[in-house]
Amino acid sequence: MAFPVTRLRRLRRTEALRSMVRETRLTPGAFIYPLFVCPGEGVRKEVRSMPGVFNLSVDEAVKEARETHSLGVPSVILFGLPEKKDEVATGAWAEDGIVQQAARAIKREVPDLVVMGDVCLCEYMSHGHCGIVKATNTGQSLGAAVASPAATEYEIENDSSLEILARTAVSLARAGVDIIAPSDMMDGRVAAIRKALDEAELTNTPILSYAAKFASGFYGPFREAADSAPAFGDRRSYQMDGANIREAMREIALDVEEGADMIMVKPAMPYLDVIAAARDRFDSPLAAYQVSGEYAMIEAAARNNWIDRDRVMMESLVSIRRAGASMILTYYAKAAARKL
Ligand SMILES: [Zn+2]
Repeated sequence: MAFPVTRLRRLRRTEALRSMVRETRLTPGAFIYPLFVCPGEGVRKEVRSMPGVFNLSVDEAVKEARETHSLGVPSVILFGLPEKKDEVATGAWAEDGIVQQAARAIKREVPDLVVMGDVCLCEYMSHGHCGIVKATNTGQSLGAAVASPAATEYEIENDSSLEILARTAVSLARAGVDIIAPSDMMDGRVAAIRKALDEAELTNTPILSYAAKFASGFYGPFREAADSAPAFGDRRSYQMDGANIREAMREIALDVEEGADMIMVKPAMPYLDVIAAARDRFDSPLAAYQVSGEYAMIEAAARNNWIDRDRVMMESLVSIRRAGASMILTYYAKAAARKL
């Protein structure tokens, strides 16, 4: 039946009607709130490019975790800013690492909150890359008089990085982290982490894999928040090319095969088609990360009164849910939960 019998506007007339036929709903239960933990006490330092997001010392992170939980948000994911960085990411897997300390404190004070631990090395490496770096001199020297920096090539080593990632995962799980979330994009890391967890009798610790993580300009503000900008080069040799959706499906399939219990697409809004394709193809619980640049753009435009911040916040989150993600990692977790 076409117009005039069919009039789709009939069901849009009032908010009550619109609400009845609404296809996608947001609940605080879908949100995961990222926290950046730093050394010290009483520290609450705002990230310049992410208004409303803070570097928090362990005691402040506990307060934040309690508030998050009281708003009905079931989970936080922890990132760490260590005291010192080195070439083997000691801060990532040390028993008294900053995230390990935070996890213990949060699980003690807010035991019902699901604590996720991001597993990556970039925040703990002096060079800021997500794996072990091998430097080789290519020997293409242009003569002794010309010291060419281009003669040094850097490779982010895959297989040697797996051992450190696995050690980090075990250390975090032992400190009380409920879910291990590897974000490094090394090949084979889910299998390596699963094996290490199982050998450490942590067979019940699930893995949420950042399965399709794209090399993205939208991560800019995060690098300030987590102090993890690479000192040289970029992450394109391990994170995915933003043009590739078929490759994203292969990445996800491999991670599922290797034992990922849940999968993630990152970033969210520029990759909604990837989220939809992943939802269509895989039955694993699916998360999406609304990343720092997505947040910063909304905040910046809202500060200029160019957009209505709350409205755009909710619309952006609904779009991610509509695309098929059941969980959303978002800096808006608390603000959106308050509106719901
Ligand atoms: Zn990383």
